[in-house]
Amino acid sequence: MTRIFNDPSAFAEEALAGFCDVHAGLVRQVPGGAVRRHRPARPKVAVLAGGGSGHYPAFAGLVGAGMADGAVVGNIFTSPSAQQAYSVAKAAETGAGVVFAYGNYAGDVMNFGLASERLGAEGIAVENVLITDDIASAPPSESAKRRGIAGDFTVFKIMGAAAEAGGSLADVVRLGRKANDRTRSIGSAFSGCTFPGAATPLFTLADKMMGLGLGIHGEPGLFDTELPSASELGQELVVRVLAETPPDAGRRIAVLLNGLGSTKQEELFVLWLGIAPLLRAAGYTLVMPEVGELVTSLDMAGVSLTVTWLDDELEPLWTAAAETPAYRRGNAALPAAVADAPVPAGTAAAPVTFAASEASRDYARHCVAALAAARQVLHDAEESLGNLDAVAGDGDHGRGMVRGIDAACAAAAGAASRGAGAGDVLRAAGDDWADTAGGTSGVLWGAGLRAFGDSLGNDHEPDAATLAAAVASFAARIAELGKADVGDKTMVDALVPFVETFNRLAGEGAGAEAGWAAAAREASAAAEATAALRPLKGRARPLAEKSVGTPDPGATSLAMVFAVLGPHLTAVRQPAGARS
Ligand code: ADP
Ligand code: MG
Repeated sequence: MTRIFNDPSAFAEEALAGFCDVHAGLVRQVPGGAVRRHRPARPKVAVLAGGGSGHYPAFAGLVGAGMADGAVVGNIFTSPSAQQAYSVAKAAETGAGVVFAYGNYAGDVMNFGLASERLGAEGIAVENVLITDDIASAPPSESAKRRGIAGDFTVFKIMGAAAEAGGSLADVVRLGRKANDRTRSIGSAFSGCTFPGAATPLFTLADKMMGLGLGIHGEPGLFDTELPSASELGQELVVRVLAETPPDAGRRIAVLLNGLGSTKQEELFVLWLGIAPLLRAAGYTLVMPEVGELVTSLDMAGVSLTVTWLDDELEPLWTAAAETPAYRRGNAALPAAVADAPVPAGTAAAPVTFAASEASRDYARHCVAALAAARQVLHDAEESLGNLDAVAGDGDHGRGMVRGIDAACAAAAGAASRGAGAGDVLRAAGDDWADTAGGTSGVLWGAGLRAFGDSLGNDHEPDAATLAAAVASFAARIAELGKADVGDKTMVDALVPFVETFNRLAGEGAGAEAGWAAAAREASAAAEATAALRPLKGRARPLAEKSVGTPDPGATSLAMVFAVLGPHLTAVRQPAGARS
């Protein structure tokens, strides 16, 4: 239970602000996250850790000498936005390049990818290292699909030390990928975690039961089993991790026994006694093992075991000194400081003037009303969408959509009041949706709305054919970024039937209003039909079986939003002779 909060939706921001105040000597808050207080005397590669909040000390607690140069901090369990990643990178980079390191989740991959494109276009060298240590989340043959859990810590530690020692961007990236290739984790959960303000945990386990193969976003374990004794649990974890020993493994390993948030340190020590002797008996030397809370999942009770097989290159980086707010090792002299890290320039919105026709300005008011209608249904459905997402995902879909639509409505109304046409109004809505909501759905909805706006432009009031083209652009952008196909159990399953139906009816000369309504019914039926599918993309994929019987949250919300957009967006002139 999370008991201390004001407005639950402000929890992550307030926690970050409090953290930055306490540790003001080491870190400073910047838009999108936190960076080291001091800039290095010489240019060095900026290692940026990132992801949602709720994992403290990951990720902001690991900013400091020998570890990360900055952390991009999303909302609870939600990927940060591309804008946040960009702005932290601008604050942290010192001329030697930037590397984003993060767990392999669709939302993070898209948002850090978009930020990288933007930084690259400005001439900043930028790379991404994805962490995929969780052996429970995909079989060895599909190890690139695995998600990142506590192995985040070992990979950050090695990359941070490599950058601190003056490694080039290419070296830091190579060593990070090598560390990830040689890192394996498995976790077990004893109880689920509870979002601030929520009455119930994201999942529950019966008394004396344990879930094996948990995620760090309140995703339940892959299967439940009776709670074993500490030594039986230790054996279970060791056997599973060692079964995945990399082919070229040596005999020296870094070991992390991690608590998930509300497991006592003493319990971890008891469990350690069931782990360390088995590893030693298997012929391993344990190099500076860590037992403690380093990558958590709010107040979840549970543990994970991470092993990184070291070699001559990785071991000195693992043992190197580090000094961060939450983690210290050895005696890390603070690097020579030249000045406080600057507040990033160029991220404040430039004053915008809009060119648009009167017709498009009129239509922009319909767009604002359409978004307001979407806002209403999403607020009403916030809890039920969260519940759908909690079945096999992380439970944040309702909150993410609400944050996104609130921001989109405010941005659209603001742009419209300053004379923007429909295209600019929807672009502004999309950009602020993506920036505020984060997560997979946030980046996709944001980019989709921007594409919708690009397609509409600021010159004309759209007819049915123009509207069909705009909806097709929305869908194409989402397909391009998310790479999901129909049947993968994502929002695309509702979107594609919508686009096809609307396009066909528009081509047959049906009025926009009737065509949209018919397409929305198709989308809604298709969203319901996703209940039968197993998810092949996104956070729900590792728990595919648990998801069967529950419709996809993103498809469900998309169908409900499209249903209410229709009457507003189709309030346009009908083509001559249109049927309705
Ligand atoms: P997150 O998965 O980051 O927690 P949300 O919970 O807000 O984000 O959104 C989850 C929804 O995102 C899923 O139900 C699915 O519809 C959609 N989704 C996930 N991955 C993809 C993808 N690759 N392409 C399209 N939609 C996706
Ligand atoms: Mg989610």
